[in-house]
Amino acid sequence: MSRTLSKSVNGRSRKPQSKENSRATRARSKISEPPPGVITAKRSSSAASSNTQTAKPKAQNSQLKTQYLIGQGFDSHRFAPQLDPTRPLRLGGVTFESERRLAGHSDGDVLLHAVCDALLGALGLGDIGQHFPPGDPRWRDADSQQFVRYALDLAGRQRARVSNLDATLIMESPRLGPLRERLCRSLAKLLNTPPDRISIKAKTPEGLGLPDSAIAQVVLLLERTEP
Ligand SMILES: [Zn+2]
Repeated sequence: MSRTLSKSVNGRSRKPQSKENSRATRARSKISEPPPGVITAKRSSSAASSNTQTAKPKAQNSQLKTQYLIGQGFDSHRFAPQLDPTRPLRLGGVTFESERRLAGHSDGDVLLHAVCDALLGALGLGDIGQHFPPGDPRWRDADSQQFVRYALDLAGRQRARVSNLDATLIMESPRLGPLRERLCRSLAKLLNTPPDRISIKAKTPEGLGLPDSAIAQVVLLLERTEP
């Protein structure tokens, strides 16, 4: 289930890999337009409000409609010996000292890959592999924060921002208890969200027989304001 990724998020000039990827590609190419899919779908209740807004500016805020979009992401990577100091263990955008790292074409940041998938899922824009095809040499050893920033940019074009995020990290080691605070701060900064809107729960894969795997599950809510 590991997702191998490749460098640089700025894949907007990339051509579609297949028909399945066409949706994601459109999202990258139409910079000035909202991406397709659920984002562009007009909701029946969204019309009506504009006539009185210019005449009564104070009433504008009360007329803004907030929509909520939920997304979930899942990812898993296996641990490998940390043989190269330039390829350390990365989790949630944070570098940790460890004898192991997460294997992957990019930096292997299982948590950020799940966050990226949750963002793209909330937007109805596919998954991380459609936007950053596995094996592309551009994403080799890439910092996975750029994948998240790319998905956030897509959300921003829809006037959507992260309301809150709830994640579960499942791994035997390292123990996440002492690291949780750093992870929350890192994610909050990356997502431009108050730290108290970020939750990271740590579990061990008890009974799963996966001592060499790291699994991340993420649920997040986007709030989108429509005039
Ligand atoms: Zn991954």
